Amino acid sequence: MGKYDDLGLFFADLDGTEIELTFDEIEELIGSGLPTSARRHAAWWSNAQYHAVWSEHGWRASPKLGSGLVRFRRVERNASTARAPSRGSSRRPPDGAPRLLLLGCVKGKRSAASPAKDLYVSALWEKRRQYAESSGQPWRILSAEHGLVCPDQVLEPYDRHLASQSFEYRQKWSHQVARSVLAELEQLGLDTVEFHASRAYTEEVRRTLQHAGIVVHWPFEGLRQGEHQSWYLEAHPGSLSEPTSMVEEPSKTFAWPSIVSMSRIGGFDYRWPDAIEHFEYGWEGELEHGGARYSFKHGVGSRFVYGADRVHTVTFINGAPVVEGVAADDYDRRQCLLSLIKGATGAMVRSHADLPGAYRSMQVVDHRSEIDAPYSRYGLAVKIRVDDVAAWAAHALLRRGGSLPTRAAAIQAPAPPPEIDPEDAFPVAIPDVDPLDMARKRTIAGALIRFGETTAAGVQTRGGVSFSGIEEADRLLYEEPFAFLVAVICDYLIPAERAWAAPYLLKQRLGHLDPGRIIQEPDEVARAVAMRPALHRYTQRVPEFIVEAARIVLDTYYGDADSIWADEPTARLLQLRLRQFPGISQKKAAMAVEILERDLGVTIHEMTGSDIAYDVHIRRVFLRTGLAELDDIDHMIAMARQAYPERPGALDGPAWEIGRTWCRPRNPDCSACPLNGVCARRIDAGSAVRGA
Ligand code: SF4
Repeated sequence: MGKYDDLGLFFADLDGTEIELTFDEIEELIGSGLPTSARRHAAWWSNAQYHAVWSEHGWRASPKLGSGLVRFRRVERNASTARAPSRGSSRRPPDGAPRLLLLGCVKGKRSAASPAKDLYVSALWEKRRQYAESSGQPWRILSAEHGLVCPDQVLEPYDRHLASQSFEYRQKWSHQVARSVLAELEQLGLDTVEFHASRAYTEEVRRTLQHAGIVVHWPFEGLRQGEHQSWYLEAHPGSLSEPTSMVEEPSKTFAWPSIVSMSRIGGFDYRWPDAIEHFEYGWEGELEHGGARYSFKHGVGSRFVYGADRVHTVTFINGAPVVEGVAADDYDRRQCLLSLIKGATGAMVRSHADLPGAYRSMQVVDHRSEIDAPYSRYGLAVKIRVDDVAAWAAHALLRRGGSLPTRAAAIQAPAPPPEIDPEDAFPVAIPDVDPLDMARKRTIAGALIRFGETTAAGVQTRGGVSFSGIEEADRLLYEEPFAFLVAVICDYLIPAERAWAAPYLLKQRLGHLDPGRIIQEPDEVARAVAMRPALHRYTQRVPEFIVEAARIVLDTYYGDADSIWADEPTARLLQLRLRQFPGISQKKAAMAVEILERDLGVTIHEMTGSDIAYDVHIRRVFLRTGLAELDDIDHMIAMARQAYPERPGALDGPAWEIGRTWCRPRNPDCSACPLNGVCARRIDAGSAVRGA
């Protein structure tokens, strides 16, 4: 029995069209206390998880937080006025009929956290998804682990299959899902659902929905499980393309280059703009493509990337580096590397629908499922053996869109700049110092933690007792989750205090911080941000980020930003979710996770996956103390994890504070610095650090 079931029974029996209940009366009805967020956030009362308790009986809640009460009004659809359950309804509604599609999850999943729509892997899932996407209708996923889920909501892989769960689990799951579906239907203004799931996922939910007057379609009625796939081909052949597979059909439009000559070569160096990279061996020669000849070189070395030392390759055409490869997690077994696929505009290709046809002759994979590591990309990549030089050359030609300079032109002209993705660029510094041993690094990390503990109580630290220096602005951050999200977005290249005050001032100027109104009135948001004194130096980009964040909150989190973290996610999963929002980088996501857990009291299931932010103050302190040797995001995060594995992100706040207060870019005040006794004092190493 759920906590709010008694409240549901109350509304089931209630007559009349309107009632006001105080928070105390509601607590009496449910027999326990309401969560703090129910008293503080109006959005709690429209959260799909709770909202269905009264909405499934035809009531809508309007909280009046200032008066400590909630007004419930009866709306048109309810249990007593609903039309009779739809018995004997057609298995499939007419094409184009407005409806909510509900897709059951499948057992096969990627190994890395992904948006739910990309997490599942099977031929049946591909068909369900293609059907849903081509229908033009809204769709949601029925997850055996998480209940009703939006397609873009990031989930960790899980291992739960509904059919193998206990009767009690399935009953409870079905009850919760039915409530969430009813809430979704109300929000979407729909009264019809269509299930694309097995009987275990649908049976009880369908019964509850029909009882509430919802028209329910289940196209698989009477079909055996194995016949579900063929239904898609027979019922909707036009909506489906052949399922995408790891190895696709050869393209008819791209002719592979032919290798004219090739020989293996020994080690060589390549000078990037700011570093020299050494390759241990490789191949070089000539290839022919489209009637022209090109020189090529394929170098094999290693690089610290995605949190580990990995085999790293660069393929050069006519002397210019064109594509790079990074070892996949299964490199030891398959000797394959990944290289991102980019479209004609240079943007990463993220879905098979956008895959340039020429890549259909190569093995195309999801980058994150093959490199399960921080900052692994959401996008498609080719997976090529380290020694398959012809494939690397073909990939390089495709990256250049076939517009390679001729060999003669290349000899006369300087080599074009590398097309290596800036975020994968070579570390900005080469170590010229001996690394401290890990025991010493742990001592430094311990000193940072002790400093953080002694200051958290009394001294103003980042995200500590005061965010903005304005009491009302700080209170808003605690009370409205969307305000917190806006502050994180604004915390970019302006003083932290100004950023954390921005949501409060924005709310004053707009009169609200309602995500629904924000997406309706983007010009108002832009005007409010730009009004003098401007809330941010970027008066175009930041309002766009805020509007897009509101859209994601509405589409993926039922309009309630609290839902981003309300399910007690792991630190790593929460970081991934936050990074879905425009304007929230790794640095800001890591910082936000720490603040949410430490200062806002958000329950985070597992903090060992938290990380430091790649912030200018933190980078400087890490380099000077000797905690890190390279000014490189992956290296610094890895060092933090090794030096303080219990909670790497806990190093973030104290390092930031020390960097801002004592370890300044110029004239660091070592004598007063709390790390004085343990620091390696590599002043020069940190002085060159630049950036946000
Ligand atoms: S101020 Fe001096 S002692 Fe403190 S972290 Fe910086 S270099 Fe080390």
